[in-house]
Amino acid sequence: MIGMDSNFDFIIVGAGISGTATACQLARAGHKVVVIDRFGLAAMGSGWTLAGVRQSGRHPAELPLAKAAVDLWRNLDDDLGQPTHYTRKGNLRLARNEEEYRQIKAMVEEQSADGLDVSFLPDNASLRAIAPALARNIPGASFCPSDGHADPIATVTAFAAAARRAGAQFRTGERVTRLLVKKGRIRGVETEKTRYSAGKVVLAAGIAGTELLSPLGIDLPIAVRMVTVVRSVPTGPILDQVLGVCGGGWAGRQEVNGRFRVTSGGQPWHGMMSVKQTAEGVRPEVQPPIASLSQVADEMARLLPGAVETPVETIWAGLIDMTPDALPVLDEAPGIEGLVLAIGFSGHGFCLGPITGRILAALALGHEPGFELTAFAADRFKGAADATEQEMTLHG
Ligand SMILES: Cc1cc2nc3c(=O)[nH]c(=O)nc-3n(C[C@H](O)[C@H](O)[C@H](O)COP(=O)(O)OP(=O)(O)OC[C@H]3O[C@@H](n4cnc5c(N)ncnc54)[C@H](O)[C@@H]3O)c2cc1C
Repeated sequence: MIGMDSNFDFIIVGAGISGTATACQLARAGHKVVVIDRFGLAAMGSGWTLAGVRQSGRHPAELPLAKAAVDLWRNLDDDLGQPTHYTRKGNLRLARNEEEYRQIKAMVEEQSADGLDVSFLPDNASLRAIAPALARNIPGASFCPSDGHADPIATVTAFAAAARRAGAQFRTGERVTRLLVKKGRIRGVETEKTRYSAGKVVLAAGIAGTELLSPLGIDLPIAVRMVTVVRSVPTGPILDQVLGVCGGGWAGRQEVNGRFRVTSGGQPWHGMMSVKQTAEGVRPEVQPPIASLSQVADEMARLLPGAVETPVETIWAGLIDMTPDALPVLDEAPGIEGLVLAIGFSGHGFCLGPITGRILAALALGHEPGFELTAFAADRFKGAADATEQEMTLHG
C-alpha cells in the first residue's frame, strides 16, 4: 500500500548537483523541502561527469550563467562548509589543425568582446609555457585562467549536507513514478512507496526527466548521448588545466588527487544500463563500447603523450541529456503551474550547478531569477531539429 506524506512545501526530484543546490537554497530560505532520488547522491550525470568548471566556449546565452556560477564556485567550500576540491587553474581548448586554429581564434575574439578573460595562445611555445606536458605539435589554444574543475561527488555531498543542515530531508532509493497534476497545477509526486503532496515540484532528474513529463503531454526533444570516461590511478602532478578540443571530441583533466579523468566525444547510447549494488548503495552503470577506448587513448597520446602510460583504475560511460540547441530548459513547465524544469544540460550542467540552484529556487518561489532566461524556455523547440542530429559541445 502507498503511504502519504504532505509535510513539504517543495519536492525536488533528483539528487544531482541541480537538485541538491536547489534544495540548499530553498531550505536555507526556511522552506520545508524533500529531495527524492531513485538511487542516491550524484548517481547519474553528476557522478559520471568530467566536472570541468568552464565559462570558455559557452553559448552567448549561457555565458552570463557560467560567469555567475564561477563567482559562486570561488567561495563554495566556505559557503557549504566542506571541500568540493575546486581548483581554478584554467581551461585550454586545443587546436589540432588549421581549421580548428581559426575556429578557436574566432571564439576567443567573440568571448573577449563579451567580457570573458580568455586569450589566444598562437603557437606551441606559448601553450607549453602554461602546460609543459602538452605535445610539441599542437599549434595553438584558447586559455581561460578563471576556468577550473572540482570533485563532483564531494560537491554534491557538500550541497546535500548544507541542505540537510538547513532542514531539507532526503529520500534516496525511492523512484518517482508519476508527477501528480490536477486542474493545471502540480499537486505532488508519487513514488513506488509514497504519495508526496506539495504545491511546488522541481524536476531535476537528468536524462530521466522526459519519461515523467511525457504522460503529461510535455514532449521535449531530448536525445541521450553517451560519453566514455577513463580514470587512471593517482600519479604525480603533470597537468593543472582542463583540456578540451574543438567540437568536444575529447577532454581531460588531472584531479587534485592525481588521477587523470579523460573523456571521449559523444556517441549514440547502446541503450543498456544495469543497476548494481555498490559501497555507496544501488547505482546505475553504463559500460562503454570497446571501440571508444581507443578514441580516448589515441587522442590522449597525441595531445598529452607523457600521461598516456598511466595505469587505468576504472572505466565507465556517462549519459548526457542533449537538446537541439545544446542549452538547458530552465523554466516552469508549459501549462502546469508550480512545476519547474531543469533538464537538457547537454553536457554543461556541472559548472552551472551553483547558479542553477539559485535560478530554480527563484522560479519555484515565483521570484525574479536575475537572468534573462528566454533562451532556456521550455516551449522554444517547436519545429526544431531532432536533438540526435546536434553536435556535442561538451568539452570540460
Ligand atoms: C561524461 C560526462 C562529462 C561531463 N562533463 C562536464 C563538464 O566537464 N562540465 C560540466 O559543466 N558538465 C559536464 N557534464 C554534464 C553534467 O555532469 C550534467 O549536466 C550535470 O551533472 C547534471 O546534473 P543534474 O543534477 O541536472 O542531473 P543528474 O546529475 O543526472 O541527476 C539526476 C538525478 O535524478 C535521479 N532520478 C532519475 N530518475 C528519477 C526518478 N524517476 N525518481 C527519482 N529520482 C530520479 C537520478 O538518480 C539522479 O541522481 C558531463 C556529463 C557527463 C556524463
